Amino acid sequence: MKIELITPRGFCRGVQNALDLLDKALAQGLQPYVLNEIVHNKTIIAAYQQKGVIFVKDLQSVPPHSYIVFSAHGVSPGTRSQAAARKLKILDATCPLVKKVHQEAVAYTRQGTHIIYIGHQKHEEAAGVCGEAPQNITLIEKASDIALIPRGQKQYAVLTQTTLNVKETARLIAELKKIWPHLREPDKKDICHATTVRQEAVQKAAAQVEAIIIIGSQNSSNSARLQETAAAAGCRAYLVDNYRELPPEIKQYQRIGLTSGASAPEYLVQECLEFLQT
Ligand code: SF4
Repeated sequence: MKIELITPRGFCRGVQNALDLLDKALAQGLQPYVLNEIVHNKTIIAAYQQKGVIFVKDLQSVPPHSYIVFSAHGVSPGTRSQAAARKLKILDATCPLVKKVHQEAVAYTRQGTHIIYIGHQKHEEAAGVCGEAPQNITLIEKASDIALIPRGQKQYAVLTQTTLNVKETARLIAELKKIWPHLREPDKKDICHATTVRQEAVQKAAAQVEAIIIIGSQNSSNSARLQETAAAAGCRAYLVDNYRELPPEIKQYQRIGLTSGASAPEYLVQECLEFLQT
C-alpha cells in the first residue's frame, strides 16, 4: 500500500491558541469550566476531562465567580452578558478570525445592511455570530433557504462561517448575486486560510489515491468539509476519530491519502500511519 501523508493538516492557529489557553489555566492551578467543547474533537475533550476540566452546555451549571472558557468558535453577546451576570471570570479562546466575522456583523447592522449568513444551523460559531444582531441576520445553509431571506431591504451583505466548503459556498454566493447583484462581501473572505488550504490539499491528493482517511470527529465542521471535498473529487472518504474506527476493507486499497481536521492531534495521524504500514 502506498500512503500519501497530506499537508497541510492538523491544528490550525485558532485551535492551538485555544488549547494553549486551557493548558495555561491548568498550569496555574485554576479550575476551568468550558462552555461546550473547547474544540470539536472527542480525544481532546476526553483528555481534558481526565485533567479535571469541566465541560458544560450552559452557564447556569457554572458556580458564580468561576473561570469560564469560551471556545475557539466564539459566543454571542447574550452569552457574554449571562457570564457577567453570574460574575464569571472569562478566559476567551475565540479565534481572531471568528471575531472578525462578529465585527463585520456589527458594522453591517449599524449601516442598516441586512446580513445573509451562510453557516450550519446548530453550530456554535453560527449561533455566536447570529447573536450579534438576530433581527438583522438570516442564516442559510443551502440554495432552498434563499426563500427565507426577507425581500425589500435597503442593502444586503453576505457573511459566512469560517469552516465551510469553499466551492459550495462560492456557488451559493453566485446564486445570491443573481437576486442581489450588489450584494456586499467582506474584502477578505470569511472562510479562513486554514480551512481553504486543507481543502485544496485534499482535492489535489484525491486525484492520485483511491481513498482518503480524515482523522477528526463527526461534529468537526472543517473535518466534515474535508470528507465532502474528497468525495466530490471522486474519492472514497473515511472520517474517523482514530484508526480503530476504520473498516476492515481499508487494507485493500493500493493508494491511500491520510490527513486530519484542524482540531485533530497529530499523534492520531501517526498512529493511523503505523497501523496502515503493518
Ligand atoms: S478553522 Fe480557521 S477560524 Fe476556525 S479556529 Fe481554526 S483558524 Fe480559526
